[in-house]
Amino acid sequence: MTALSIVVPCYNEEACLRLLHRRLTDAARAVVGTDYEIVLVNDGSRDGSWPLMQQLAAGDPHVVALDLSRNHGHQLALTAGLDLARGELILIVDADLQDPPELLGAMLETMRREGADVVYGVRRTRAGETRFKRATAHGFYRLLSRATEIDIPLDAGDFRLMSRRALNVLLAMPEQARFIRGMVAWIGFRQVPFPYDRDERAAGETKYPLGKMLRFAFDALTGFSSAPLKLASHAGLLLSAGSLLIIVYIAYAWASGRSIQGWTSLMLVVVILGAVQMFVLAMMGEYIGRLYSQAKRRPLYIVQAIAGETDKREGQLGQIAEATANKDNPGGNGTRPISRAS
Ligand code: UDP
Ligand code: MG
Repeated sequence: MTALSIVVPCYNEEACLRLLHRRLTDAARAVVGTDYEIVLVNDGSRDGSWPLMQQLAAGDPHVVALDLSRNHGHQLALTAGLDLARGELILIVDADLQDPPELLGAMLETMRREGADVVYGVRRTRAGETRFKRATAHGFYRLLSRATEIDIPLDAGDFRLMSRRALNVLLAMPEQARFIRGMVAWIGFRQVPFPYDRDERAAGETKYPLGKMLRFAFDALTGFSSAPLKLASHAGLLLSAGSLLIIVYIAYAWASGRSIQGWTSLMLVVVILGAVQMFVLAMMGEYIGRLYSQAKRRPLYIVQAIAGETDKREGQLGQIAEATANKDNPGGNGTRPISRAS
């Protein structure tokens, strides 16, 4: 086991890599000495990122570089790197050095002081980003926190320090559409914010054009909220209630002889069919929502600690997939976190 893994997804980051390597190395050495690794993931870059990564890996035994077959997107590249990481502590940073790696020491200090499993960076300011990006990001995080059932921290990116046991739970979530900052929030344990000022990109330009940003936002919403599906059932209920009123009016019009021949039966068919259809759609929405959450195959629950005599329960505990075998992680208190896969 390595003390620290720093995981960096990179897409066309040729211009940043050397500086990144230098600053990560300095930051890691200052905190854990030589017991660290830097995991660079090349997410199908079209520039010279990969040859440069190979070069860095050849010249520095601390560097592990991974080349994905094509551009899989930020979150999947990050997942690949996290899968490969061996550290007791895991730091996630962007390749563009917007998140200063020098904060590692302070983040670790916060983690130890608070007994936390996750210390996540919260952007106090964002330098060098367009007003449009800042405004959409601001709106997005607020919409997300209203729509989702779990507390996804506002204005936090993927810049975070995690314990091994938190990472193991994250890796036990096999869902395909990955919104990692939300998934980490879902895990639980003690998670502590760490305010920082976001720097400008060291070089190059953003690898998140509008299209990718929208897809990302959509993954976040659909992955963590069934509000869109609930919308259908709410509309269905409302329309069903509305159609009842309309039926009353139809009956009244018929009784008072104000309707023309054939109107009453026609209206009844239209209204009743409409209401029934909406109702059925809403029902299907509920089932689809359940299918979807089942399909994500997230662990059903995650145990943080057990007290009392647990030895006699080894058999039972054995049936429960252990999220980690590590007993003395820095965030934990010596008991084993476990989870059961659904
Ligand atoms: N990235 C990636 N694959 C992609 C897009 C981005 O691995 O398809 C990486 C990118 O190299 C960087 C991180 O994800 O390390 C965040 O991207 P960027 O800094 O461009 O996003 P922004 O900070 O502008 O939101
Ligand atoms: Mg960036």
